[in-house]
This record gives sequence, C-alpha cells and structure tokens, in this order.
Amino acid sequence: MTKQLAALLIIMLLGITACGQAKEQKIVTEDNQDIRSKSDGYWKEKLEPHVYEVTRCSATEPAFSGKYWNNHEAGEYRCSNCGELLFESTDKFDSGTGWPSFTQAQGSSVETKKDISHGMVREEAVCKKCGAHLGHLFDDGPQPTGMRYCINSASLDFKSEKKKDSK
Ligand SMILES: [Zn+2]
Repeated sequence: MTKQLAALLIIMLLGITACGQAKEQKIVTEDNQDIRSKSDGYWKEKLEPHVYEVTRCSATEPAFSGKYWNNHEAGEYRCSNCGELLFESTDKFDSGTGWPSFTQAQGSSVETKKDISHGMVREEAVCKKCGAHLGHLFDDGPQPTGMRYCINSASLDFKSEKKKDSK
C-alpha cells in the first residue's frame, strides 16, 4: 500500500502527461455515431479542462481533491464523457486513498489495459464505450472480489438515487 501511495505521489509530482502523444487526426463527420473515433479536438471542446486532462490525457487528480472520494450517497456513477453506467454506489468502499474506490464495475463497462508509464506496470481502467481514462485497477481490494478500482472523480458523473428519474 505505501509503495503504491509513493508511486501515486510521483505521478502527481510529475504532473506532465503524454497528452496528444497519440493524437489521431481522424475526420469525424456529423453522422458518425462511433464515439470511439471522436477526435482529440472534439473532447477538448466538449469537456471541462480538468476533466479533459484526466480522461483524455490520463492525468491523475490529487488525492482527496475530487468531488466523489467522500460521497456516501446511494446512486450510480456514470462516465463523465459519454454517460455510460460504470459503477454503483453499493460497490463503493472507503479505501483511505482519497480517490473513489470500487470493488467491481458494472457489467463489462470498464476495460483494462496494461499501463507502463512512469516506470510502473499497472492496469489502467478505461471506459469501454468511449475510451475515457478512468483510473487504475489494483488487486488489493476487499473481499469477495479482492479488486480495487481506483477512479478519478473527474472521470465520473454521479446520479443520486433520488434524482435518477429526472436525469
Ligand atoms: Zn465513456
């Protein structure tokens, strides 16, 4: 745990991401429904700067800074980029890390990719629908899954149970 926290600190200190490194200048037409093929410019325009930095440039928000790490309300967590349902509040737990943490994702909404940035080998958690960077997946979570999805608040859009019907 301390090793991981130290690693996360290093990431935060580095701060600089490889944004735009793999920028694909695809021509996107108006009727293109494939959200995966949206250009970098599309997201830059659509998203708040800090959300863009996290979800499209794989930045990590500082611990205890996001809006959901300490949120205990019942509801669902959707992708801040495309609205896909990613996590349920019933799977959220207090990991003490300062980032929203979940023991499992909803269905197959979250995919993982090997991330070898910053001199570490980690599993990156990505929205399967739109490709947004969410955070990382670790295997030190509580039972029964033993998994810990460590997610940036900026990647999430919380819908309270109470307001679900009026979304
Ligand atoms: Zn998404």
